[in-house]
Amino acid sequence: MLPELSRAEIQRYSRHLLLPEVGPEGQRKLKAGSALIVGTGGLGSPVALYLAAAGVGHIGLVDYDVVDESNLQRQIVHGTGMVGRLKVESARQRLLDLNPEVRVDVFNEPFTSVNAMRIAEPFDVIIDGTDNFPTRYLANDLCVLTGKPLVYGAVFRFEGQASVFYAKEGPCYRCLFPEPPPPGLVPSCAEAGVLGVLPGTIGTIQATEALKLLLGIGSTLAGRLLLYDALDMSFEYVKLKKDPNCKICGSHPEVTELIDYEAYCGVPGYDHAAVPAENDREINVVELAERLKRGDKLRLIDVREPHELKVSSLPGALNIPLGVLASRLSELDSAQETILFCRSGTRSQRALELLLSAGFKKVKNLRGGINAWAREVDTKLPIY
Ligand SMILES: [Zn+2]
Repeated sequence: MLPELSRAEIQRYSRHLLLPEVGPEGQRKLKAGSALIVGTGGLGSPVALYLAAAGVGHIGLVDYDVVDESNLQRQIVHGTGMVGRLKVESARQRLLDLNPEVRVDVFNEPFTSVNAMRIAEPFDVIIDGTDNFPTRYLANDLCVLTGKPLVYGAVFRFEGQASVFYAKEGPCYRCLFPEPPPPGLVPSCAEAGVLGVLPGTIGTIQATEALKLLLGIGSTLAGRLLLYDALDMSFEYVKLKKDPNCKICGSHPEVTELIDYEAYCGVPGYDHAAVPAENDREINVVELAERLKRGDKLRLIDVREPHELKVSSLPGALNIPLGVLASRLSELDSAQETILFCRSGTRSQRALELLLSAGFKKVKNLRGGINAWAREVDTKLPIY
């Protein structure tokens, strides 16, 4: 039995009620429907806004981060007044302002194999708005195991992808990519730039697919991968096939429970840098500043891309971008104590692992990167 619409709801949703494909019955389906949005960032923002506006009765939001000024270029559910506040709280307030008729439940925690089943249980559709490998595999496996559809989206620089992985109707993500790529093969996705509007386009497509799934109308992206190029303004589709030997949705599945994958391209499913644990392979910015002042002979290697040096740089640092580091090891003296840094410490952690595996012993990663330096040591440097 679908819930009735109130007078206020009939007024609010009149443009839906005018569509024969939606109508009062469809709107009641949306009111009875529910969607879990994992991540309230660039993709999650438009998904959450449009699903709330459309009247999806129960919306779940998962995130563990706080709003940062650098998020606002694309994470449009948040506002300047919310900088420093929990993202899930910021998003909930905005959604309830947009539409007080919907219920918004928030989960201020990383989405992991331990809590994913519990969090996702009451929701009809799962939308991955995190765009990282660990969450993508976790959400895929969860959806296959529980029979729910997964709405997938990913963005990189000026390009995006979207699909629906619904094992009942078509392939799952593992049919295409059985296992995550080995660390190092993926470009440093955590710190790649992105045109702010791009996750808006892809997230809006994800919201469209979620609404179609809840309404049961149209044909979704299940079995198709949408490829979008913003610079060319081109949309292409690739047909996807179900793999009968798929590790999780095939006839003899190997994966029968949730797995936490981590450390692809140095991007864990959730940010361990947020946890204040130091190890002897790390140096913090205050310690580095003291040692440089003392005149300690340290080799500073900046593994960022050359254009980032125009934003901020440390004097005397040698720039070797992470992508070419492996081919330039001969320029480094393994006997000299070396400090690696990048913007926030993610890429330099990858660089550290690369140097350690190449036999370097006297290397450390600068915790928090040049942004931490800008916050704590040289406050004239910009933070980006
Ligand atoms: Zn599969």
